[in-house]
Amino acid sequence: MKNLLKWTVGCLVLSTLAAVGQQTAVVSVIRAGTLIDGKSDKPRNDQVIVIRGNQIESVSDAANAKIPSGANIIDLSKQTVLPGLIDSHTHIFLQGEDPAQGGYDANILTAPLALRAARATVAARRALEQGFTTLRDVETEGAGYGDVGIKQAIDRGYIPGPRMFVATRAISTTGGYPLEGYAPELEMPKGAQIVDGPVEARKAAREQLDHGADWIKVYMTHRSWVGKNGELMSQPTLTVEELRAIVDEAHGWGKKVACHAYSGVGLHRALDGGCDSIEHGLDLDDAAIAQMLKQATWYVPTLSVYYTDWAAADTPEGQRDRLRASAHEVSFKKALKSGVKIVFGTDMGGIPWTEPIAQEFSRMVEFGMTPMDAIQSATSRAAVMLDMDGKIGVVAPGAFADIVAVRGDPLRDIKLLESVQFVMKNGQVYPGK
Ligand SMILES: [Zn+2]
Repeated sequence: MKNLLKWTVGCLVLSTLAAVGQQTAVVSVIRAGTLIDGKSDKPRNDQVIVIRGNQIESVSDAANAKIPSGANIIDLSKQTVLPGLIDSHTHIFLQGEDPAQGGYDANILTAPLALRAARATVAARRALEQGFTTLRDVETEGAGYGDVGIKQAIDRGYIPGPRMFVATRAISTTGGYPLEGYAPELEMPKGAQIVDGPVEARKAAREQLDHGADWIKVYMTHRSWVGKNGELMSQPTLTVEELRAIVDEAHGWGKKVACHAYSGVGLHRALDGGCDSIEHGLDLDDAAIAQMLKQATWYVPTLSVYYTDWAAADTPEGQRDRLRASAHEVSFKKALKSGVKIVFGTDMGGIPWTEPIAQEFSRMVEFGMTPMDAIQSATSRAAVMLDMDGKIGVVAPGAFADIVAVRGDPLRDIKLLESVQFVMKNGQVYPGK
């Protein structure tokens, strides 16, 4: 009886608190000229979105919408409203390092960690102001667990930035990641955690998960070059056994594994080892596509980055760079046609953060994706991959209020997504007042 009384009082207190919480939560109402909700294949005109606190409460036709009294009205009636965009392949700790200024190596060898953190802070803000309210950031390139710190700084409100899914240090093997090309007598730092053997592989995954990795990132291929028959060759890194140890560990923690894989042996090991997503996938042969369909593997192609910084055409590197791009186009088109689950990712950081993130949409559409499909690859489909279905990547009741708007119709001109006019994350307008 005493316990029941306690319980009843407890419930009363809780429900009173909930009621107070509801009364005090800020209510905003967005009038959307057109709504692309991230899930439906058709846009809807004249919609009213009611936001309470950080969540979307309702979405309805303006004609029968009930507007709560005292709500803060946001007039986007001349704009197209969409869910906050999701980039599922970024590196906030890279800045498109200029080779003339020492490139990738200088970033690791000369930049104090605080400088790298400051630059990552700017990258995160750049993503948010361009309407990318969620990032899956797939490794810090030698900046350790810096991404976990940036994520905490965002979540605690110290700095503006997207929702972050972070991969921390990433994993590759001996001979499988820079810094390289130095005297063999020197013990050089590496841009990823190096492992050899399933025991070390599992231990690295455990360490990274323990320190806050939301995803594990694995490099399954490294160097690439043009083969004897003009095909794209890439150096495999982890064995299937090494990868299986990582995948088994990550899945045990309820987490997923993203695998950088270009082609050939390394790509097939990635699939045999059970990677959840293939990153880049420059040369997907038919067997790889069949296996991706069978295993429901995600494909994050990152097309645009392979069109930057080509070496001169008459050099082996230049020929390789051109082959990467041409093979990638064929792979993307094949994957699209066969129904592989394609998710938007850019490799920003490989591209300077001063450039528009949304440029990737144009490339996807140029290679045959419909604009609506491309938008869904950066909204609801990405959300499913991130185990956030219904919470992000959609404008619907119960989702977090991550909402953006553009002028004009992005289904006619996908480039409009490079000029996002309005950004709301978690119910708060950025940059705010
Ligand atoms: Zn990358």
